[in-house]
Amino acid sequence: MIRTKFLALALASVCVAVASGDASAQGKASVGIAMPTKSSARWIDDGNNMVKVLKERGYGTDLQYAEDDIPNQLSQVENMVTKGHKALVIAAIDGTTLSNVLANAKAAGITVIAYDRLIRDTPNVDYYATFDNFQVGVLQAQSIEQGLGLKEGKGPFNIELFGGSPDDNNAYFFYNGAMSVLKPYIDSGKLVVVSGQMGMDKVATLRWDGATAQARMDNLLSAFYGRKRVDAVLSPYDGLSIGIISSLKGVGYGSGDQPMPIISGQDAEVPSIKAIMRGDQYSTIFKDTRDLARVAADMVDAALAGKKVEVTDTKTYENGVKVVPSYLLKPVVVYKSNWEKVLIDSGYYKRAQF
Ligand code: BGC
Repeated sequence: MIRTKFLALALASVCVAVASGDASAQGKASVGIAMPTKSSARWIDDGNNMVKVLKERGYGTDLQYAEDDIPNQLSQVENMVTKGHKALVIAAIDGTTLSNVLANAKAAGITVIAYDRLIRDTPNVDYYATFDNFQVGVLQAQSIEQGLGLKEGKGPFNIELFGGSPDDNNAYFFYNGAMSVLKPYIDSGKLVVVSGQMGMDKVATLRWDGATAQARMDNLLSAFYGRKRVDAVLSPYDGLSIGIISSLKGVGYGSGDQPMPIISGQDAEVPSIKAIMRGDQYSTIFKDTRDLARVAADMVDAALAGKKVEVTDTKTYENGVKVVPSYLLKPVVVYKSNWEKVLIDSGYYKRAQF
C-alpha cells in the first residue's frame, strides 16, 4: 500500500514536470538560440521553428534576437554561456566576432552549432547546419539565365550585380555560385555589367540592408544608364530585391514600354512572393526553415547524447581554423509558375497571406 502510494506520487510529479515543460526536471538540457534580427521574416520563422522543435523534444529554450547589432549579439551569447545552457545554436551577425565568447563556451563544455551562417576564426564551433549556399547562388543565376533566354542564345543584355553582407560567409558562397553561371556569359559579351562593378569588394551590401541596395541602384541608374536599359539584376536576398525594385520604379521601369528587369532574390518572403505575382520580381529561393530547425535540433540531440552527429559535408566549410562538419539542405527556386506548389501545398504559408 505504501509502495503504491509512493509510486503514484512519483508518477504525479513526473506528470507535473512534463506538463510545465520544465526541461531540467525531465533531465533534458536547455538550449540558447541566438538569431540576428527580426527585421526579416525568415529569421522570425527560424527562431519560432527552433523553439517549437526543441520544446517538442523536451528541451528548455532561450531565444534572443540582436537586431543586427554585433555587440548586442555578443552579450546575448555571453549571457547564454553563463546561464548554463548545454548547447548554443547561433546565426551570427558577423561570423568573425564570437571567438572569445566561444572559447568560454568550450571551457564550459557547451556544444556550439552554427546555424545557417558559418562562424569563423574559432576552433570552438562543433557543427554547421545550413543550406547548400553555393547552390543558392547557382539557382539565382540560372533563373536570370532562364528569364533572359541566354541559353537560347539571346542577348547581349545589361546586368548589375549585388552581393550580400561582407561579414556573412554565406554572401561569398552566393556570389561565387552565381558567378559560376554568369561569368561565361560576361566573358563572351552576352551579359554586360555596364557599371563594371564586379567582385564582392565592389558589390557587397552591408548588413543585407534594403535601403543601402536601393541607394546603390539609384546611383548605378543615374551614373551609367542614361540611355541604356537594365535587363537583369542579380540580387542575393528578397529584402535587397524590394529596394532595387523601388529604385527601378522610381525611374519608370515596370510601366509602359519599360518592363522590369529580371530580378532574383532569396528567402521567399511574403512581399517578394507578391512582387513575383505582380511580375516585379522574377524569382526567389525557398529555404524551408522547418527543415533547418529539425537538422539543428537533431545535432543538439545527438551531440548531447554523445552519439554520432549526422552530417553531409566535411570539406566545404573551412572557417579559417578548421573545416566545420556540415549538414547541407537543398534550396528550391521559386517562380510565378510554381510558388503555390512550393509554398502553399507544403504548408509553409497560408493562402490567406496573399
Ligand atoms: C541567409 C539568407 C538571408 C541573408 C539575409 C544569409 O546568411 O543565408 O537566407 O537572405 O542572410 O538575412
